[in-house]
Amino acid sequence: DFGALIGAWGTEKPDAHALADKFTTVSWSQVAQLTSRIAAQLQRDGLQHGQAVAILGMSNINYALVYLAAVRAGGCAAPLTTSATPAQLSAMLRDSGAMHLFVDAAKLADLGGIDLGDVRIVILDNGDAPHPSLEAWMAEEGATFASAAPAPTDPFNIIYSSGTTGTPKGIIHSHAMRWHQMAGGFKSIYSRDTRSLVSTPLYSNTTLAVFLPTMCHGGFARIMDKFDVTGYLDHAQSDRTTHTMLVPVQYQRIMAHDGFANYDLSHFIIKFCTSAPFPAELKADVVKRWPGGLVEIYGMTEGGVVCMLQAHNFPDKLHTVGQPVTGHELIVLDDDDNRLPAGSKGVLTGRSPTMMSGYKNQPEKTREMEWRDEDGNIWLKTGDIGIVDEDGFVSIVGRAKDMIISGGFNIYPKDLEELLEAQAEVAEAAVVGMPSDAWGETPVGFVRLHPDASSTPDTILERVNGQLGKTQRISVLYPIDEMPRSHIGKLLKTDLRTLAAELQN
Ligand code: ATP
Ligand code: MG
Repeated sequence: DFGALIGAWGTEKPDAHALADKFTTVSWSQVAQLTSRIAAQLQRDGLQHGQAVAILGMSNINYALVYLAAVRAGGCAAPLTTSATPAQLSAMLRDSGAMHLFVDAAKLADLGGIDLGDVRIVILDNGDAPHPSLEAWMAEEGATFASAAPAPTDPFNIIYSSGTTGTPKGIIHSHAMRWHQMAGGFKSIYSRDTRSLVSTPLYSNTTLAVFLPTMCHGGFARIMDKFDVTGYLDHAQSDRTTHTMLVPVQYQRIMAHDGFANYDLSHFIIKFCTSAPFPAELKADVVKRWPGGLVEIYGMTEGGVVCMLQAHNFPDKLHTVGQPVTGHELIVLDDDDNRLPAGSKGVLTGRSPTMMSGYKNQPEKTREMEWRDEDGNIWLKTGDIGIVDEDGFVSIVGRAKDMIISGGFNIYPKDLEELLEAQAEVAEAAVVGMPSDAWGETPVGFVRLHPDASSTPDTILERVNGQLGKTQRISVLYPIDEMPRSHIGKLLKTDLRTLAAELQN
């Protein structure tokens, strides 16, 4: 019972720091007390067992407390994506079935007049709004609540998918799944001495993979509401951070910082990376210049496959995402869902103890993800195309939805992106498939050029197409100032396709 554990750390190490944000620091006894006051009030308001508690706002201590309290009260935390549109947010809120929305005042104002149903609104920050603040709303000191005693299959949280490839889907994680991740898989990695630095948003599963194990093991987590390189490095040094999770663009910005070598980062034990392709040279640079281990995780919010690469131990496997971790299985399917022999390229499909219970309210979408083997076991299709090498290390080639079929040939955008990025003038490249009368689809490229680049995209295009077969050639190359990215740094190819369509007209 995760909730009981949170309470227990309050007694076990009452004065030790548990959480910090930009404004303040709270101890474990405060976390235990505050989460039990919030849990008590949730129950007085009539929160049902397993019912969602929606949270929307900047990541900070209050956000974290509500998250933990929702689970303590026997509810299910439903952190909402802050970048979603008001219409998407109202859909998510309705989908989750929450009776409470904990929200920042400014965020609530952004929502304008959207229909929030009859949810109770509690203001998370100290902003001005015609609703009670968290402090005013929560039960009095010493208030008690009925302990949740959750069953393994009860929902722990609902996480809305990044929406990188479509509308966000509500992914339900059970207590068993979280427990397996926090106390099983990560048992030897976290301890009561863990000091984590959290600089990605708390609504993202990426973040929770560090935040929750840190809390479960009675460690300390600093929560940054916004990432900036020097702020991150300052905290890492002064907190003597031991654990962190960053996405590739964050690593890239940190490693490019001039003053990097002046920071004392010697306390780091492990740094995780996940959620988007992580270039091999960047991994090598992090391993070389940043103390502690570097572990890349490949997985998805839905669970199903989790591969890990201990980058510091496998210098010749940096182009891969590692191997499936114990208890996780991986196979490769073709487009018609047939199992492919070892060494083939196809859709990565996995089975694991950390699989979601399903998409909330979307049984058909859940079934679309699933694949059944001869024995009736359920596997999840990732939608990612990959290949497993002879040592069992997995390389990601791209997303099936991003694959371009031109004149009947499969083109993997990644192959073209790598070729573009090999050009001296190109800082970053992305390729998407666009409809074409002649070919069905044709590759269209975007490049962010280095500031001092003297050649034009057309010259670069000519040079690159010269190295490509006729069926693979890029039809147009557009310069772009900045690639569109989600809040956790995922490249948004849907946005690029929209942009390409506008530019073509
Ligand atoms: P949506 O499902 O809403 O379109 P999403 O798939 O981006 O969004 P997540 O579950 O956060 O949402 O991300 C999982 C995906 O991220 C994987 O399917 C894969 O494409 C990508 N990914 C995760 N880890 C890695 C990694 N280490 N290297 C490359 N890609 C990764
Ligand atoms: Mg996905």
